Amino acid sequence: MFKYLFRFAALLLLTTTLYSCSSDQDVVNVYSGRHYQVDENLFREFTLQTGIRVNLVKADTDQLINRLELEGRNTPADVFITADAGRMIQCVEKGLLRPMDMSAISKVVPANLRDSDNYWTGFTKRARVLVYDKERVNPEELNSYEDLVSHQWKGRILVRSSQNHYNQTLMASIIAEHGEEKALNWAESVVNNMAQSPRGNDRDQVKAIAAGIGDIAIVNTYYMGLLLNSPNQEEQRIARQMGIYFPNQQDRGTHINISGAAITAYAPNKENAQKLIEFLLNPESQREFAEKNYEYPVNTLVEWTDLLKEWGTFRGDTIPLDKLGKHLSRATIIFHEAGWN
Ligand code: FE
Repeated sequence: MFKYLFRFAALLLLTTTLYSCSSDQDVVNVYSGRHYQVDENLFREFTLQTGIRVNLVKADTDQLINRLELEGRNTPADVFITADAGRMIQCVEKGLLRPMDMSAISKVVPANLRDSDNYWTGFTKRARVLVYDKERVNPEELNSYEDLVSHQWKGRILVRSSQNHYNQTLMASIIAEHGEEKALNWAESVVNNMAQSPRGNDRDQVKAIAAGIGDIAIVNTYYMGLLLNSPNQEEQRIARQMGIYFPNQQDRGTHINISGAAITAYAPNKENAQKLIEFLLNPESQREFAEKNYEYPVNTLVEWTDLLKEWGTFRGDTIPLDKLGKHLSRATIIFHEAGWN
């Protein structure tokens, strides 16, 4: 009963102005777990080009998933956006999405970065790399995620909490590659080599290297772009002190995740939703994500920015991201068993 009341209260709290305009002809309602200025700029550009107004609700991804579940058939949401393939897979499993038309999308987005049943597509690509202090670490000492268990990294590894979606999907990829038992051994050894118990976000891990707490960190590359281009001089200085290493170049490649977009199961404005998602994949939008947010384009026809080129080309893991879903619940359990908080 309490749980029911709580959920009802949460729904009321979350419910904003969307209902009034949900079935308008020239509107698309977006629930987004991404909180970037570049997204809002692109939505504005979409409105200029099409006349379709974008109503944006930004919140934590898990909150938005709860909200979609609670709203059910009455949801005003047309498009769901999240910065993690794992959360997309959960939405498919919960019946919150509907298949979209992939005829144009499949021409520009590689198959491993979109759902094979057409429920979602990636629209930016992220690489989870090793960032290291250029003075204290020789990149020749680095190799793979698996190699982080080596005794030489004792007390030197920085990484955020296992509550974080990026780490959960990384763990799912390690289970997919090695099985659950080896994945648990890996997690235990990484915990054993940590410089401190996990805290903060990806950017905080890089700052902790600069503060001398550890020497290497597991981080998404675009955070380095954000630091290098920060209005804060100290953040810029810290970022310049760091190197970026793409792990697993000798085998399956560096772990890749996506920011993805999907059409919700009960979208009142399906056609507009499809148009918005295709707009995010056009070359101009793809270039904007790279320029302003330092993410990799998923559209293979789009040229990389100078900064992305500077970080270097690399082999990315090509495991289809929709195949990682079945390992996600075990990933959480293994982290727990390994004491990775
Ligand atoms: Fe992020």
